[in-house]
Amino acid sequence: MPSNVRTNWAGNYSYKAPHLHEPTDLQEVQRLVQTLPKQKALGSRHCFNDIADSPEHQVSLKNLKEVNLDTENKTITVQAGARYGDFCESLHQQGLALHNLASLPHITVAGACATATHGSGVKNGNLATAVKQVELITPSGEFVTIGRDHVDYPAVVVGLGAFGIITRVTLDIQDTYDVEQYVFQDMPLSSVENNFMEVMSAGYSVSLFTNWLNKSISEVWVKRRSDQSYNSLGTDFFGATAAKRNLHPIADLSAEACTEQLGVPGPWYNRIPHFKMGFTPSAGAELQSEYFVPMENAVEAILALERMREEINPHLMITEVRTIAKDGFWMSPCFNQNSVAIHFTWKQHPQEVMALLPKIERELSGFNVRPHWGKLFTISKQTLTERYPMSGEFKKLATMYDPDGKFMNRYLNQNLF
Ligand SMILES: Cc1cc2nc3c(=O)[nH]c(=O)nc-3n(C[C@H](O)[C@H](O)[C@H](O)COP(=O)(O)OP(=O)(O)OC[C@H]3O[C@@H](n4cnc5c(N)ncnc54)[C@H](O)[C@@H]3O)c2cc1C
Repeated sequence: MPSNVRTNWAGNYSYKAPHLHEPTDLQEVQRLVQTLPKQKALGSRHCFNDIADSPEHQVSLKNLKEVNLDTENKTITVQAGARYGDFCESLHQQGLALHNLASLPHITVAGACATATHGSGVKNGNLATAVKQVELITPSGEFVTIGRDHVDYPAVVVGLGAFGIITRVTLDIQDTYDVEQYVFQDMPLSSVENNFMEVMSAGYSVSLFTNWLNKSISEVWVKRRSDQSYNSLGTDFFGATAAKRNLHPIADLSAEACTEQLGVPGPWYNRIPHFKMGFTPSAGAELQSEYFVPMENAVEAILALERMREEINPHLMITEVRTIAKDGFWMSPCFNQNSVAIHFTWKQHPQEVMALLPKIERELSGFNVRPHWGKLFTISKQTLTERYPMSGEFKKLATMYDPDGKFMNRYLNQNLF
């Protein structure tokens, strides 16, 4: 492979944009936005598809990572190159916290919010719900600030990179808190059937992991805030047994990369993500897909997928099931619906996985299923348009911001425009 080939984090996609720019100040970003005819912002490259690609230029803000805390208004403002892992520890040291994080801290705030990246928790909205305002450079080169009270806010924050280059994101923060993480093994699938909401509500953030075999949830990760009160979990949690050592979600892998478990209290940023900042998250060489269905359809959707276990399992590393509270972002998979996200970490079997996805999508089609924008899916543009009731407004607004299509790419054309 020639050395100038740049890939995404998983290595399954090579960016086609021949030019990468890494500006060192905002004036340079503004000049690039004004002068480059076709371009796209590039975050930390953790998407599994070509959402961050451009036919001509990519602009990475990785050199712009300034962080400013406003303790009076309880907000933090980060430049768009900042990854969650760059500032969460210092935020905690100053007595402050975010409401939630994804499974890994390695992603940029701007890139994560652009695709509605989420963690888990029946009452927790995705990471974009913490956004108080964004500053962006629009295709004409103008700096614009869009706050919660701005009419364009529900479109621009989860904007799929279509509105320009976001330069700063301001997030709501709260007083810091500790989290205790408990892992249980081998929960019978019948507990999901009979007690889904009780299981998923047993902590501030709960994840189920399964390989779909043996009618079993191989691991249940329950993350509880130390400042909230809960019923005791005991050692038998809906038929699952408390783990006696730290585990990786894929039980055969070393737990060295994973955040501390066994109920040891620790700061939020070091418990809510499954993976620690200094380590490779997840498995590394992998593919990912994720599908969101309304909470009320969770059990039926899980059982439908369980019936596909023989087809799914040979290509699967692990499935994770999480919950996300509804939000108002037009292109969020959780727009107006409390959701369950069913995630697949696949082996790098691209052909087999791409052949399997339409079958999975067909099984889930009765549940208004929406895909994760940053992962692999094959749902058609027409169906996506139907499933996102505000997609017409989104397209209209994006075209107003970007009439010449500077920020258009194959991905947006294929899936939306
Ligand atoms: C190991 C692993 C674990 C993951 N875990 C989770 C998880 O727990 N939950 C979840 O929901 N997702 C998860 N993901 C997916 C990931 O969070 C998303 O794909 C996220 O969008 C990646 O952010 P990024 O910074 O890498 O952005 P990129 O992949 O670089 O870009 C994503 C999009 O954001 C846009 N963008 C980036 N920066 C800017 C900017 N400054 N201005 C405007 N647009 C911008 C890009 O143009 C592109 O459209 C995971 C991915 C991996 C590889």
